[in-house]
Amino acid sequence: MKSTTQQPLLSKPKIESTESTKLFTDDYKNELENASYAIVGNHSAVEICGWTKKSMKGNEGGCYKQKFYGIRSHQCTQMSPAAVACDQKCTFCWKANEFFSGKQDLMEEANDDPNDIIEDSITAHLKKLSGFGGNERIDKQTFEESKHVRHFAISLTGEPTLYKRLPEMIEELHRREISSFLVTNGLHPEVLEKLDKENALPTQLYMSLDAPDKKTWKKIDIPLIPDFWERVLGSLKTMSKLKTRKVLRMTLVREWNDFDAKGYADLIRRSGEDTMIEVKSYMHLGPARKRLSKKNMLDHEEVRIFAKKIAGELGWKIIDEAENSRVVLIAKNDWEGRKIDFGNPIPDKVSNPFSC
Ligand code: SF4
Repeated sequence: MKSTTQQPLLSKPKIESTESTKLFTDDYKNELENASYAIVGNHSAVEICGWTKKSMKGNEGGCYKQKFYGIRSHQCTQMSPAAVACDQKCTFCWKANEFFSGKQDLMEEANDDPNDIIEDSITAHLKKLSGFGGNERIDKQTFEESKHVRHFAISLTGEPTLYKRLPEMIEELHRREISSFLVTNGLHPEVLEKLDKENALPTQLYMSLDAPDKKTWKKIDIPLIPDFWERVLGSLKTMSKLKTRKVLRMTLVREWNDFDAKGYADLIRRSGEDTMIEVKSYMHLGPARKRLSKKNMLDHEEVRIFAKKIAGELGWKIIDEAENSRVVLIAKNDWEGRKIDFGNPIPDKVSNPFSC
């Protein structure tokens, strides 16, 4: 197996942002940088996830995706190649979606090279992590391992499927033995088809399933394109034939979308019986605090009760849960391999069995 080549710590980024490109407006750039994001090139961004920071202590575990699927939070880079645009303005989004222009054709100009985006994302990620080296509460071995990125969470902000060269980016990640969890809002089934056709499906594909019906979706997600519902249904149908790990993620917001378990189950069935379902509470964080209130969060027990209802409708079961993230995982059956074996954390030391 090839060893992973990673950018040395603090090396110079390959992509230089030019003021003339203006995919990021100055206001938006400031907003992101104030929130500790690193801007990468002309349309991408990276942020160190709170779980990545927490996991550096070595004994506090990682995010729920570590528990459910085996990714290692301390080796995870959270980024987006489309940080400048999304075609929804979801009410519960904890990112500054007020800054999106609403012009999706903006991403037509997003031409940064996928390889450069990866290199510069890793560089920016490692640069931010380097500050942990002198912290006495950090576990030294975990810190060493964190210098080897093994996982990309392609979500962060914006809609990643709007980046035209996404298939190349995913292929390049896998060539470097970095796994990819891609999150989409479900409005681009044609991109899912393209990823499939070009043999560039992510390690795990996530689609947000935010409502049990068209009217609720329109109210909670505020889609900016008219045929959003046909696109949502199209993505569910496409998912049913994709040969990769698949998850529908439901973010429950009290009184907005925490009803009609049957409606959700009918939609879930369209994506096939090998899809896993994450039922999760809205979290009152970031800019979402301006749009919703703390009362819109569900407690873990409420999430579990609703998850049980959905599982009951489907004849499926709860296979895992993480109380600290208020999330419950449903599947038809639990399965061997749900938790990915990433092998040795430092790939050069021992050959590892992980395949993206
Ligand atoms: S998978 Fe997501 S939540 Fe977990 S460490 Fe990575 S970015 Fe954070």
